[in-house]
Amino acid sequence: MSHIVVIGAGVIGLQTAVSLLEAGYKVTIIAKHFPGEGTIEYTSPWAGAQWRTHATADQKDECEWDISSYKQWAEVAQSDPEKAKEMGIETYPSYFYWATETPESTSPSKIWFGPHILNFSVLPATSLPPNTHAGIRYTSIAINPPKYISYLLNHATSLGATLIHSTLPTPTLAAALTAAETLLSQQFPQAPPISAFINCTGLGARVLVPDALVHPIRGQTLLAKISGVDSPAQKSENPVFSPSLSVPAIHTREDVATPSVTYIIPRPGTDTWVLGGTKEVGNWSAEADAGTTEGILKRCCELWPALQVPGVEIEVLATQVGLRPGRTGGARVEVEEVEGRVVVHEYGHAGAGFQNSVGSAAKVLGLLEGRGI
Ligand SMILES: Cc1cc2nc3c(=O)[nH]c(=O)nc-3n(C[C@H](O)[C@H](O)[C@H](O)COP(=O)(O)OP(=O)(O)OC[C@H]3O[C@@H](n4cnc5c(N)ncnc54)[C@H](O)[C@@H]3O)c2cc1C
Repeated sequence: MSHIVVIGAGVIGLQTAVSLLEAGYKVTIIAKHFPGEGTIEYTSPWAGAQWRTHATADQKDECEWDISSYKQWAEVAQSDPEKAKEMGIETYPSYFYWATETPESTSPSKIWFGPHILNFSVLPATSLPPNTHAGIRYTSIAINPPKYISYLLNHATSLGATLIHSTLPTPTLAAALTAAETLLSQQFPQAPPISAFINCTGLGARVLVPDALVHPIRGQTLLAKISGVDSPAQKSENPVFSPSLSVPAIHTREDVATPSVTYIIPRPGTDTWVLGGTKEVGNWSAEADAGTTEGILKRCCELWPALQVPGVEIEVLATQVGLRPGRTGGARVEVEEVEGRVVVHEYGHAGAGFQNSVGSAAKVLGLLEGRGI
């Protein structure tokens, strides 16, 4: 049985650990942060999160990764609601809008992922909210990130993963790998030799590898409770404009021309919602910004008019900031040999780490198999 050391315990490291364990590998996870910890250095707990592919048709890997996660989650949600609850995932109707004209918004019926997802349709122009160029509707999946990564960690340990809570030194990968080997021999002297390392350090790869292409994409969001009285008499056939909060749905508007994205996502297993957000390339600030919070509330109310109905109240419980692990040129999932060791890099998934996770892990397994590991 080959022994693989996964570095990092965000959604990418944990999903990869689970996929390796399910395939019969022995796995040790070494990480500075594990589920349950909340720090700006650890992105996964701060995600929105939902399935909303950002891949374009020519990005074959990313398209495949996103569809793999979608299929796995939709299958669990439909066939095993109890398991879906335990994982913190749930399906919802999703309304996605483009704020301005883009190559995709001009012919949304031809979008590459339409045939792969459930209940896809193009929204008629008459049902678009203000400041919107075009829109689509489909069944999407909302994810409760803290719950989902805790589920993955529990699943990995139940399958036999060994955990080491430690920070590996920077800035040379060779020194970090030597430190990992030393930790393992000290804490688990009986462990079999290491066959390969998987580097799932997210934004940490900027200094660990080091890889200067890695950069933060800051996202500010609000965790909120939304309450109000249903007014059935005002319900319309079109849930976008329905004042009813009893039909929860995901609403998203992408505006590629600005550093903002607007979304309202029900958080599975709770009575809260996530309202977002921003996409600020190169901004490292961990501090919430009051002006940004105001802007998010204004944009969300405009996007989903149900929030403007008299009597509806939005109570902001927390203002959150996370740094997506962006990488110029896209995520790096490839093998590198470092002083005789096999390292598979798997980092830089930017704003798509959850939806990429299942397929990205499958690619890593393929790369190991290709090496005869
Ligand atoms: C506001 C916001 C909204 C988002 N919405 C979505 C969404 O809707 N859908 C979606 O798919 N994605 C979304 N994302 C993106 C997603 O959260 C990230 O892509 C994902 O969390 C990245 O996971 P990761 O495992 O690569 O990194 P991380 O979660 O940051 O994990 C990195 C791990 O590496 C460890 N590490 C780093 N350096 C070292 C070191 N030197 N030694 C030991 N350990 C180390 C860390 O401790 C940690 O365990 C969103 C992100 C944000 C901020």
